[in-house]
Amino acid sequence: MDMTSPRIEIDLGKIAHNAGKLKELYGSKGISVFGVTKGVCGDPRIADALLKSGLSVIADSRIANIRKMRDAGVQAQFLLLRAPISSQVEDVVRYVDISLNSELSVIEALSASALAQDTTHKIILMVELGDLREGILPADLLDTVGVVIKMDGIELAGIGANLACFGGIRPDDENMGLLSSLAGEVEEKFGLTLEFVSGGNTANYLWFTSTDDVGRINNVRLGESIYQGTESLHRDVIPGQFTDAFTLVAEVIESKIKPSKPHGEVCQAAFGNVPEFEDRGEIRRALLAVGVQDVVISGLTPRRDIDILGASSDHIVVDAKQVDLKVGDEVVFDIDYGAMLRAMTSPYVEKTYVNAP
Ligand SMILES: *Cc1c(COP(=O)(O)O)cnc(C)c1O
Repeated sequence: MDMTSPRIEIDLGKIAHNAGKLKELYGSKGISVFGVTKGVCGDPRIADALLKSGLSVIADSRIANIRKMRDAGVQAQFLLLRAPISSQVEDVVRYVDISLNSELSVIEALSASALAQDTTHKIILMVELGDLREGILPADLLDTVGVVIKMDGIELAGIGANLACFGGIRPDDENMGLLSSLAGEVEEKFGLTLEFVSGGNTANYLWFTSTDDVGRINNVRLGESIYQGTESLHRDVIPGQFTDAFTLVAEVIESKIKPSKPHGEVCQAAFGNVPEFEDRGEIRRALLAVGVQDVVISGLTPRRDIDILGASSDHIVVDAKQVDLKVGDEVVFDIDYGAMLRAMTSPYVEKTYVNAP
């Protein structure tokens, strides 16, 4: 079969393995796992692999991705991770089972839309615990709950928090303990049971593996640790996880012995930077047909001993060193979360799948 490139090779079996192991690990302390698909552009085949591994809720930040998965026949409950855009509440109620929220005006709009569609929409109220992205301030939570539980068409399914995404704040016993005690206060004051106390994302791993007591936390929403096999505070590998479920492949379109240092007057390059290059003498320079439009260059690690020298929109330039790269050869890379996200989103990168579970 003629394989086109650039392409991203997706090992569905490794993804399912990673997801299953994390479900088992978190499940050992009563914590359920939602499978997050925003980093893979809501890919329906990957969503199916997550479901095969035993997950039942798929979470994504974008309605467009959730619609794509539903249209492709993915049989799951869907959660919207990013707070709804006011102008999209109708689609949120139509296509999403649960959404994460932090603004009363938006929840009011969801309520009105749910009534108009004769349905109930579940929400999880997000609480700000220090990372300073989304969330109600803890001091405002009880008042907000008091308003929300009176709204028709809205069911308060839980509370949640998200750390380490914007401010880099580490989940620990203190902030997770606060979320637990807030859950207790809500339940006591309003006489209700919260289905979900959703503690966070991949960054919760080190807290989870080191804490004596997970408290009331009974859910996490995981993307990166499923796809990359790493935690996200130090990017350490999680034992037993595959780190190579995704592979980027690009093709050599020129290979020549040339100088290592550009000559002529140095000004700005394609993206406004003024590049500097060390003089390595004459080297084998290979051009690969993949660029910034397809992938985040800093997120690539070649699997052979070659060096990435730089990139423009449509080219990566490498020093092939001792590797005799020829025109038409394929070069294979490990790919980090950011590079995976862009490659999955780029229409120019072919997606190929192996080992469907
Ligand atoms: C992206 C995101 C996640 C998943 O994060 P990972 O680090 O990929 O596990 C979870 N929750 C929210 C709100 C998110 O935006």
